[in-house]
Amino acid sequence: MINNNVLDAAIDAVRKACLVTRKVQADLEQIQQLEKNDKSPVTVADFAAQAVVSHVLKERLGEHKLVGEETSGELRQADQERLASSVVEAAQTVWKNATLAQVLEAIDQGDHDGSGDSYWTLDPIDGTKGFLRGGQYAISLALIENGVVTLGVLGCPNLSVDFDRSFNEADTTGLIYFAKVGEGSWVINATDAVSKPLRLEVIQNEGLIRVCESVESGHSKHDDTARIVEWLGGAGESARLDSQCKYAVVARGQADAYLRLPTRADYVEKIWDHAGGMLVAQEAGMIVSDIHGKPLDFSKGAGLKNNRGVICASEKFHASIIEAIKVLEIGD
Ligand code: AMP
Ligand code: MG
Repeated sequence: MINNNVLDAAIDAVRKACLVTRKVQADLEQIQQLEKNDKSPVTVADFAAQAVVSHVLKERLGEHKLVGEETSGELRQADQERLASSVVEAAQTVWKNATLAQVLEAIDQGDHDGSGDSYWTLDPIDGTKGFLRGGQYAISLALIENGVVTLGVLGCPNLSVDFDRSFNEADTTGLIYFAKVGEGSWVINATDAVSKPLRLEVIQNEGLIRVCESVESGHSKHDDTARIVEWLGGAGESARLDSQCKYAVVARGQADAYLRLPTRADYVEKIWDHAGGMLVAQEAGMIVSDIHGKPLDFSKGAGLKNNRGVICASEKFHASIIEAIKVLEIGD
């Protein structure tokens, strides 16, 4: 049983990281000019967000094990001084007086390999392409205990409460979704610390399936989505958006399924790309499995080595999607 102190610390960490990434996004053009590299803003935000999450967890909960996507190697290189100072400045948005040494140490707390009984996993910026486009991206933090995801906090800084708003437009406040195993899924405002959590209550869609998938065709095979939808008898409105926000979009009933269909035989999905989002979707009543219907196995370190792709869908549609995948021989 996870106590509320742990949940509060995880939400606080993600909220502060959201403030950092929003600040970097607001300064996007300026950083791009300074660094003369289009990828720099996301690098700055990635490092700073990981440092802040790690720092907050340590401050509030003590020493912890963290499997983070980033390592500080690049930042420690002699010719990366300017990048390093941009990262420190970004972290200082919420971590006053942070020094470079402290920031590097906090980032390196995230070098755990996913062995052992209990650890956190973090994607400090999931959906880097979405971040750069000003579209959707997520900060995903989850606790894994004995191979089971027991807590998930998904920061969606550009996601609006308004279902009619385009995913390509950034929201002014953003949302944080969170879930503890067995206790439902909840949403709060990402910037307002006193916002009251609301429980997700999904209304069954009685019409045609509405799917969502990656914007990037290299991350999920768009043609296969179209084949599945056709096999199911056609689709209602479909959406493409970056990041684990797709799990939130299904969890809140805006889509019926998130399909992640393999594009390569050798790609192994990473735990930080799924743990947080998966729990939010499951606790809202969705079924999450791989493309063959197997539950995602979080007991194999940093990779989902026992799984292929991901299908997250409402109870009404999950089994028929798995059936379609089998009949259409997708992912073999
Ligand atoms: P999305 O925004 O849903 O397209 O997912 C972004 C994530 O896709 C990144 O965090 C990467 O870790 C991951 N990724 C990179 N290459 C692949 C691939 N070939 N197949 C599936 N996911 C990938
Ligand atoms: Mg990612």
